[in-house]
Amino acid sequence: MGEKAEKHGGGCYCGAVRYEIAGPPAWSGHCHCRSCQLALGGAFATWAKVPAEDFSVTKGEIRFCEKTPGIKRGFCGDCGTTLTYAAEGEVEGQNWQGEAWFAAATLDDPSIASPEAHVYVSHQQPWIKLADGLPTFHEF
Ligand SMILES: [Zn+2]
Ligand SMILES: [Zn+2]
Repeated sequence: MGEKAEKHGGGCYCGAVRYEIAGPPAWSGHCHCRSCQLALGGAFATWAKVPAEDFSVTKGEIRFCEKTPGIKRGFCGDCGTTLTYAAEGEVEGQNWQGEAWFAAATLDDPSIASPEAHVYVSHQQPWIKLADGLPTFHEF
C-alpha cells in the first residue's frame, strides 16, 4: 500500500452501524426533494459521495428501504438513522454507478463535507430560507 488518503469514520445515532471513507468527500450537496424529507424526517438531506471503493461498513450492517424500485435508502435497523443512498442504473438522466452516497451529517466530523449546491429546491419547504449563497437547482 502506498500513500493512501486519510480515513474518516461515520455512523448512526446508536452506534450499531459504523462506516469508513478513504479521503474527503468528492462532492456534497443538500437535497430538498420530498423523498429525502420523508426518509430523514427533516427539511432536507445533506448528501456526500466518495468513489464506491472508498466506502466500507466497519461495524454492524446497513438495512435498506426500497420504496421506489431501484432506489435503496440505507439505514440503521436499530435507531433508524439514514446512512446511504444508492440507485441502480440511470435515475432522471444521472448515472450513479461507482459512487457511494452517504448522509454527510453521519460523519464523525461532518465539517469535512463542503456542500456545493441545493438541489430539488422545487420541493423546498417555505419555512427554510437559504442564505449560504450556494447555487440552487429546481431538480438535480
Ligand atoms: Zn443505529
Ligand atoms: Zn432527495
